[in-house]
Amino acid sequence: MNWLKYARHLGVLLVLWTLGGAWAAPSIVVTNATLAKGLCSEHQQEIAVKLPDDWKAHNIKPPAVACYRAKIFMAHSPTIAWALRIDRLPGNHRITVNGIQLTTRHMEGADVTSMATLPYLIELPVNVLLAGDNDIEIDVRMGPFRKPGISPMTAGPIALMRADFDTWTSLTVDLPKTLNWTVAGMALFLLLAWRARPSDKVFAYFGGLMVIMSSRNAFYFLETIGWPIPIVDWLFFSSHAVTSFYLVAFGMSYANVDLSRIINPLRVLVVTFILGSFAALGTPHLDTLRLIAYPIMMIGGIVVVIKVVQTAWKRDWVEAVFMTAGPVGTYISVAHDYLFLTPYLDVTDLYWTPYCTPIIFLGYALTLMRKFVDTMNLSERMNITLEERVAERTRALEVANQSKTRFLASASHDLRQPTAAIGLLVSLLRQQKVAPEVKELTDMLDEAVASMESLLVGLLDISRLDAGAVQVQFQPVCLNDVFQAVRVHEKSAADAKGLQLRFRFPANAGPHLTVLTDPVLIHGVLRNLVANAIRYTQQGGVLVAVRRHGKRRLRIEIWDTGIGIAPDQQERIFDEFYQVGNSARDRTRGIGLGLAIVRRTASLLGEQITVKSRVGRGSCFAIELPLNHVNTSKPVAPSSPQHPMAGRNAWIVEDDPILRRALGEMLQSWGAQVRTWPDGEALLDELPQLLATTNRAQRPDILITDYRLPGINGLQLSQTIQAYLRESGVSLYTLIISGDTDPAEIARLSASGQVVMAKPFRSERLLEQLLALHQAKAA
Ligand code: ADP
Repeated sequence: MNWLKYARHLGVLLVLWTLGGAWAAPSIVVTNATLAKGLCSEHQQEIAVKLPDDWKAHNIKPPAVACYRAKIFMAHSPTIAWALRIDRLPGNHRITVNGIQLTTRHMEGADVTSMATLPYLIELPVNVLLAGDNDIEIDVRMGPFRKPGISPMTAGPIALMRADFDTWTSLTVDLPKTLNWTVAGMALFLLLAWRARPSDKVFAYFGGLMVIMSSRNAFYFLETIGWPIPIVDWLFFSSHAVTSFYLVAFGMSYANVDLSRIINPLRVLVVTFILGSFAALGTPHLDTLRLIAYPIMMIGGIVVVIKVVQTAWKRDWVEAVFMTAGPVGTYISVAHDYLFLTPYLDVTDLYWTPYCTPIIFLGYALTLMRKFVDTMNLSERMNITLEERVAERTRALEVANQSKTRFLASASHDLRQPTAAIGLLVSLLRQQKVAPEVKELTDMLDEAVASMESLLVGLLDISRLDAGAVQVQFQPVCLNDVFQAVRVHEKSAADAKGLQLRFRFPANAGPHLTVLTDPVLIHGVLRNLVANAIRYTQQGGVLVAVRRHGKRRLRIEIWDTGIGIAPDQQERIFDEFYQVGNSARDRTRGIGLGLAIVRRTASLLGEQITVKSRVGRGSCFAIELPLNHVNTSKPVAPSSPQHPMAGRNAWIVEDDPILRRALGEMLQSWGAQVRTWPDGEALLDELPQLLATTNRAQRPDILITDYRLPGINGLQLSQTIQAYLRESGVSLYTLIISGDTDPAEIARLSASGQVVMAKPFRSERLLEQLLALHQAKAA
């Protein structure tokens, strides 16, 4: 309990302070003196006074100069140093003992600069005090608005008096001065807090109140001040006006009273007082103004203090005690200090305000601390709740995402099956010689299937990229080869629109420039970007330009002269299914997955796609790639002969009857011998007999199997058959076809090391895949 400790300390100090006087062990106390106007050297008429004295007997009013004379009788001259202790002595003074000037403070010139009466201990060296009567002369000057006069004097051995005097000074001067400067400093800190949070006006009011009150309190202990008296007068009056304003504003805020209606009239009043007093500077009108202003400030103050006390008692009792003691105490002490300046109270009295004001600060500091602690608790609680809610939402999102993925996976799997069959059947149909009307229909059918396939392929690509199932194989790639492959695929589309499709290398580099990348992935990226460029350009052309970017990198830019992309769309076009201005989702305008795949693929390659575009002028998509200086690359697209599968035996396991038939017929049309089964177990049952009866030339070269089969799945089937045939010395290559988009299944399949082809696929891709497999086997 910190406050208890502080309260105890304060108690001890107060006790010390009250005992201070009693502790003094005076040897001789002087209370009889004479007072004369003017300096002692002027020898004006003296009158007898009792100390403490405040000039009232002589009717002298500060600012003025006066002379005190007193006598100390000594039985014999002391042999050790003595001292003269005067607890109240104006800041301007000169002390002479037996004609020897012992001290003179601020008595040069004729200016009255005294601000306070303070305690002094003047050393009386050996031989100054003599046996018999000793004459003491004290010249004093006192400034206006301050209590003049001196306290009784005490003379005694300095060694005995020093400690007691020091305690007294520290309790009556140092302590209140330090307390008030400290509070002023802390109040400045509150003003800074208000700057950081201007909406918390109460910080401003309280900070302002405390800064001004505490600094003014500290001024009570200032020995002298050199400023012109009218200015000091004006400053004090203004400080009263401003403090009253802040007191009212703070008190009202503390009591939660709405200030909005009274704050402006209050401001006007304060400014009027300040300006009015400045105008009346050095004239008697200032006193008139005081007569008007002080009662108003007093009444305002009383109302506010009542409000503050009422509010405080509705809160914590410790705060209530301080918030009562502080403002009420300050109020009483202001009245006391006012009286102190009049002749009703002795000069030995103390200013009370410097002791009471800091209590207000303490009281409000408790309020602030409680607020601070409450806010911290609240924010901690909110943080915890927020974290819990975020975690809950995240869980819910994960569940929703998983079920979405499952739904998509099964929906697209079920769609792939028939789409693959339709695709193959349409290819077969187109190989037939048919009437022109039927041909037109099959062409349209082919187009529709192609669009459906591209959607499914896109979805699968996204799933595979998200599942991390795409392995990147960095190798030196000849850019020209990639460009040729892109040209082969996209030239017809460009020609159909009358667009020029050009590829350009840097001036000083040959077409054999190679980069270090994955040939398949970069081909996909460039093809997608070029296809888009052609799709969104009506006239002009498409340019694929290669630039050097530093020594180690190349930048491939795909420029078009098309419709362009507005700045606010340039980021969104990379989202899945986002298409600019295709809210009707016209499928002839693409499906909106291309750029999503491009961005994912690029990031797999460790690169970024950037886009610059101007609406109506065209766009430029770009990707950077690291240069490779070794000039080797793989061919990208193989070409196919008339009956590419002639003489091969193909076994097909597919549970979907239409797709099974379509696959079978397709392979037969390429010259292969085909056998089909609806599921893996049927094949395994027949296998021993098949191998026994068929001669070597009829043994299978290739197994094409669906992945999802009733009973044993395609992966298990291909592994079992491969193991079986290996024992009989037959090597077989397998192709698993799969319609799965479930990332987990995709990851499992790609980890198996088997060649997998995603459904749906066109006959060209199937053939490409089979030939590649055959080549690999031959190698
Ligand atoms: P898709 O082309 O299938 O619609 P993409 O993901 O490839 O899907 O592109 C998304 C959108 O970005 C397109 O619908 C189109 O509005 C815009 N876009 C892409 N490339 C270009 C381009 N070169 N010029 C103008 N707009 C483009």
